[in-house]
Amino acid sequence: MDCIFCKLANKEIPTNIVYENDLAVAFEDTNPQAPVHVLVVPKKHVESLNDLTNDDGTLLTAMMEAIREVVSLKGVKESGYRVVANTGRDGNQTVPHLHWHILGGRDMKWPPG
Ligand code: 5GP
Ligand code: ZN
Repeated sequence: MDCIFCKLANKEIPTNIVYENDLAVAFEDTNPQAPVHVLVVPKKHVESLNDLTNDDGTLLTAMMEAIREVVSLKGVKESGYRVVANTGRDGNQTVPHLHWHILGGRDMKWPPG
C-alpha cells in the first residue's frame, strides 16, 4: 500500500517528529496553518475515524497521550489549541490515513471554513 503517512509514521521517509509512543507518532505539518500545527497519526494504517472499532481503545488512548505531550512540548497547553480530524469528502480529508491536527499559537476562529 502506498500511503504517505504510513511511510512517515514508520520512518521510511524522514520527517520532523515531535513525539512518539508505541502506537502513535506526532510530526510537523509541512503546510502549517497556525504557529503550532502538528499531526498525530496511528502507526498502523487506519483510513479515517469511520474505520476505528471498539478494539481501538488502546490506540485512541495512545493518540490522546500524544496530544497531551505535544501541547505541553509546544507550549500551548494553557493558551489553548484546537484538535481537528477532517473526515471524508465534505470534511476535506486529503490524506486517507487517520490524523488529528493540533493547531495553536493563535486565536482560532469559529465557525471553521
Ligand atoms: P487533511 O487535509 O487530510 O485533513 O490533512 C492533511 C495534512 O497533511 C495537510 O495539513 C497537509 O499539509 C499535510 N501533509 C500532506 N503531505 C504531507 C507530508 O508529506 N508530510 C507532512 N509532514 N505533512 C503532510
Ligand atoms: Zn497509512
